[in-house]
Amino acid sequence: MVKICLECHYVNAGGAVCTECGGRLVMVSDPEARDLPDTVWKNQRVDYGARRGMIMRFLAIFIGSTTGLYGLRASFGYEPPWSRVAAVGSVVVGLTLWWILHRAATRGVRVWVLAKGRVHNARLARAILLGIVPFKRSRRAG
Ligand SMILES: [Zn+2]
Repeated sequence: MVKICLECHYVNAGGAVCTECGGRLVMVSDPEARDLPDTVWKNQRVDYGARRGMIMRFLAIFIGSTTGLYGLRASFGYEPPWSRVAAVGSVVVGLTLWWILHRAATRGVRVWVLAKGRVHNARLARAILLGIVPFKRSRRAG
């Protein structure tokens, strides 16, 4: 459980006193925490955003490699020319999945951290999608 120090605003992982200065800790949901300055909440969002991005990047690697390896294994069931096509295709699909999710994570963290609470969910999703495929946007413009 995340707790914030009332004295130095250091974020502690639980406990009753701050590990940095020994000040009293409050929970994020405490009424007392509401009076803390904006910078504390911004740091909190950066922390959460970074953590979420890390989980998403891990998922990207996991989903991408699982898809690629599963397809690669399945490709051995085909006759020679097609088995090679399927093998290469699986690796390409796996890498593409990883790349898309990785970009989504990077873009998502930036959007979550900077715009949380200020942007409508649909616009947030659109901003993330546009961040993944910037080449499409420029092609349409030109
Ligand atoms: Zn402290």
